[in-house]
Amino acid sequence: MSRLPRNIRLILLTVISILFCASCEKPKNKVISTSDQSESSVSVEWLSHGNGDYEQRYSKLAQIDSSNVKNLGLAWEADMGSLRGLEATPIVADGVMYVTSTWSRVIALDAVTGDVLWQYDPKVEKSWAKRLCCDVVNRGVALHDGKVYFGTLDGYLIALDASSGELVWKVDTLISRDMWYSITGAPRIVKGKVIIGNGGAEYWVRGYFSAFDTNTGELDWRFYTVPASKDGPHEHDELVQAAQTWADDSNWVGGGGTAWDSIAYDPELDTLYVGTGNGAPWQRNQRSPGGGDNLFVASILALDPENGKLKWHYQVTPGDNWDYTATQHMILADLEIEGVDRKVLMQAPKNGFFYVLDRESGELISAEKFVYVNWASHIDKETGRPVETGMGDYEDGAAYVFPSPAGAHNWHPMSFSSQTGLVYFSARDIGWVFNKAEDKWFTYGVDDLDDLIGDQKLPDTKGYLKAWNPVTQKLAWQLESDLIWNGGALSTAGNLVFYGNGAGEFLAIDATSGSVLKKIMLGTGVIAPPVSYQIDGVQYVAVMAGWGGPAFNTMQGGEAAMRFSNAGRLLVFKLNGGAVALPATKPARGAIPKQPDIRADAETIEKGRMLYYLNCAACHGVYGSVPLLPDLRYLSHQKHKIFNEIVRDGALEPLGMPGFADQLTAEDAFAVQAYIVKSANDAIGSPLAE
Ligand code: CA
Repeated sequence: MSRLPRNIRLILLTVISILFCASCEKPKNKVISTSDQSESSVSVEWLSHGNGDYEQRYSKLAQIDSSNVKNLGLAWEADMGSLRGLEATPIVADGVMYVTSTWSRVIALDAVTGDVLWQYDPKVEKSWAKRLCCDVVNRGVALHDGKVYFGTLDGYLIALDASSGELVWKVDTLISRDMWYSITGAPRIVKGKVIIGNGGAEYWVRGYFSAFDTNTGELDWRFYTVPASKDGPHEHDELVQAAQTWADDSNWVGGGGTAWDSIAYDPELDTLYVGTGNGAPWQRNQRSPGGGDNLFVASILALDPENGKLKWHYQVTPGDNWDYTATQHMILADLEIEGVDRKVLMQAPKNGFFYVLDRESGELISAEKFVYVNWASHIDKETGRPVETGMGDYEDGAAYVFPSPAGAHNWHPMSFSSQTGLVYFSARDIGWVFNKAEDKWFTYGVDDLDDLIGDQKLPDTKGYLKAWNPVTQKLAWQLESDLIWNGGALSTAGNLVFYGNGAGEFLAIDATSGSVLKKIMLGTGVIAPPVSYQIDGVQYVAVMAGWGGPAFNTMQGGEAAMRFSNAGRLLVFKLNGGAVALPATKPARGAIPKQPDIRADAETIEKGRMLYYLNCAACHGVYGSVPLLPDLRYLSHQKHKIFNEIVRDGALEPLGMPGFADQLTAEDAFAVQAYIVKSANDAIGSPLAE
């Protein structure tokens, strides 16, 4: 394989080029609780990803409550051996906590003392890093019958002995090791099967998810979320139906619909729910010329877990054109709506609407905007379909679309409190200019942006913690932040919400009023969701701190990442605990060094700029942002001398910098180098340089 096709490169580019950064009411509805946590006066633990099949992420523990949370302090902390993003939900069972760190490593700790019991490193090939849109993250393990299950970045599903950490079995979940698949999500256990999907829609893969036998790792069934092509072959009946919604396309690649995160299960209805990702490529006219809904991209699927047969589907964004995934967290609950007890499924996907569905039939109950949205005016109650405004169309030029591909809400888990009846989640107001023309993808401005905005009153670019009433579809309260990339949520019976943010703060909030009752400075940005558990009569709250994800989302803020080392930590709190020590501050970076004498013409530098955005910026950032990995303007002369060996041959692969010989010719690599040198020279003496 020489270079990635132009279209794939376009998609890569879109991932990294977010260049535009631009009445409350009290809940009063009866809520039927659906907690399945076992009653115990001694130990109440966090046994599964969403704290039960319904994935509500509500803890009925109330030792820590709104009156005493001011005394919250550190019980213990543990070094996660990482400098990048941490997204895992800790699982706690029988006094042991299981977490995942970067590169799909698993760590088991004593949940009371923090002592490390064992660690398992699947030794993911570092070259896999370039196949990831959004950092070398993992969102956690599943625990079942004495085994720990997790997926690896390079697509393996692994079962370990929970007491020793020894390998029990390992299977390859990928249908192709040449396509750029990955696993970052946590598996779920349903009826003796491990359910796992994968990521990669940004790289034009075909989505699917699979069920493996928990004991043997043998494949039980597999559900493809999109057809292999309009004409098949269709591996299962549902794809015949799906194929009707796709156009013939001689350039068919992938299709997308990857199931990279959200899974839930209703034992009573014996129904498995899986959320699917965006279409690939993003642009629908390119993906399916002439139109079509493109099932089952951006959809919620309800299946029989025995055989993977589809019961119903609800497509959240038909004909997705904007990376609007439906892989966001799904919560199952029983709510009284207009006097009727309803079994609902709730989701706040990237597209900006909060959906409440009947989870038995897939019927839309309600959907309302929770941030500024301009691509659709509303969701039609009769058809269940969005009514597009046309403001999201970019077939003939540019469109300034809200929400952006970062999502009005992304993977960060929500929490549903059966005490308050509210759903708590991390959201953001942010738009993005989509432009059909390839040479416009990188531009910071569109000449006629005012024309795109028209008479809209655009919101400020902000992040939020929202408390949402799913019955009335109204905001109860929100916390606002200048940072758009913050943590997941936990609610507890102590009338509390716990939440960490990108500024490196951990907050305890009154779940009813939204008042911040306690703020603990961690010094490390949080994107992960907290959990709570109780052992020997002591309630704990745990969260992983480690800033990361797609570099475009770290463009804003990331103060903690700027000031302090981003050394990943697992922090556990209890009442009357100790103080949190701030991490080491970063050594001063000094001035950008004098650059090597590399001469290139303007055309080469422009080519280098395009290639930099396509291949480098996802991790190394857009200049002026807060990159997770080294700012290349600071490269030493020594590294510049072996630039080609690093960039193409993978000389630094053991450190996580893959070789790009498959993507970049020597000439391309030189153009990138010339662009970096030009950027550095431009920054020397400017406010960007320190
Ligand atoms: Ca995506």
